[in-house]
Amino acid sequence: MDCIFCQIVQGKVPSDTVYEDDEMKAFRDIHPVAPTHVLIIPKRHITSLADLPDEETPLIGRMARVANELARKEGVARKGYRIIISSGEEGGQVVPHLHMHLLGGRKLSDRLC
Ligand code: AMP
Ligand code: ZN
Repeated sequence: MDCIFCQIVQGKVPSDTVYEDDEMKAFRDIHPVAPTHVLIIPKRHITSLADLPDEETPLIGRMARVANELARKEGVARKGYRIIISSGEEGGQVVPHLHMHLLGGRKLSDRLC
């Protein structure tokens, strides 16, 4: 499997890890677009949100919980932040391993795209 995020999970590619548990890992985006830009990923390879089996939907809630926790730790929770999951090519997904972006630390655009 040559998935870059799976390689990060396996420790074969370095990452600036800010959170880890049995199910998930969170690390700083290599090309940040905001002062806080963290990616939250499941350790298990799931290609995209569109590929998430219905019965695994609660995973997204657990990822949002981690995003909330990290927003507090990063000091952006009070002023506000954004979480984004892009799915598929037209959704703007570049890395085909499910991930949630946590963006904060500056006023983000009112526009979504
Ligand atoms: P997306 O466009 O939603 O698929 O976002 C993929 C994100 O992964 C981009 O913001 C990239 O900057 C980020 N990224 C790609 N490779 C790495 C890496 N090795 N470490 C950290 N972030 C990465
Ligand atoms: Zn993967």
